[in-house]
Amino acid sequence: MPLHAHLSGSISRQCLHEIWRGKKAANKTDLEDPLVIMPLGEPVVDINSYVHDVESLHYSTLSVVEDFANDGVVYLELRTTPRSFPKEGLDKKGYVDAVLTAIDVAQQKYPSIQVRLILSIDRRNTLAEANELVAFATYFISRGVVAVDLCGDPAKGDVSLFTPAFEAAKAQGLKITIHFAEAECSASETELQTILGWKPDRLGHVIHVPEHIRKQIAAVRPGIGLELCLSCNVQLKMITGNFDAHHFGEWWRVDGPVVVPCTDDVGVFGSPVSNEWRLIQEYFHLEREDVLSLARKGIDVIFDGDAQKKRLREIMWRTG
Ligand SMILES: [Zn+2]
Repeated sequence: MPLHAHLSGSISRQCLHEIWRGKKAANKTDLEDPLVIMPLGEPVVDINSYVHDVESLHYSTLSVVEDFANDGVVYLELRTTPRSFPKEGLDKKGYVDAVLTAIDVAQQKYPSIQVRLILSIDRRNTLAEANELVAFATYFISRGVVAVDLCGDPAKGDVSLFTPAFEAAKAQGLKITIHFAEAECSASETELQTILGWKPDRLGHVIHVPEHIRKQIAAVRPGIGLELCLSCNVQLKMITGNFDAHHFGEWWRVDGPVVVPCTDDVGVFGSPVSNEWRLIQEYFHLEREDVLSLARKGIDVIFDGDAQKKRLREIMWRTG
């Protein structure tokens, strides 16, 4: 049940390679083969440069959903920052429409998985762009957009700029999740308090969090969802030390917050969510009952409605 998965970062190298091969054969690209220039664990290559038209967007979205379904995922929340493809006359709204269409097709093809979409505001956006994104998210609620996220380079932007946009999102019934204290430069007291002031439903990463803010997060009721991404944080050295030093170990027993293991960019880090659960068991010595209990609690913080929660609880009940 990965709830923090970026669409472009979830595209497998193989899928990018296939997109590249198709374009190369049609003489439509000067780029290098992504399999050659993007070794595992190195998110150097700009994935978007390979996926820059409706066809490759559709193909890659199908491929991402297929990969998650094949990993045993039954519910997925993908997130994406809308882009435009001017050459094809596709604006950002058209982009969201295209992603949702591809998700529909994928769900028909892989009926075991249900997918919802989160739209991400980039920290470099203007307030006008953020407001526009909230308007798109609202427009597409009936087609499966469930929330708005804030992501992007943690060194960029002043988050307080986006307060009106997140307030508007809440007012429209959208949920809110935020990349939180991802790096030291995005963990100032002012930034973290500003974000908590938006009353986010979930937080991503939660790495550089001082003790008093940890207590503040733990006190939120109903429990706030924490999207923790172990392989990402370890591989990119966003934390000091190995898996056993990950803050999952501090959070998973805390009463209140709901910890959800997530993949962030599985195409980059090569660790599907089944492997993230395996890592958790291995490094934090969780018993089977702990794992089941964690998975069950995770259902409470998905962004879809009661029918979806009921479906997931039934699936859990059958497996547990
Ligand atoms: Zn992320």
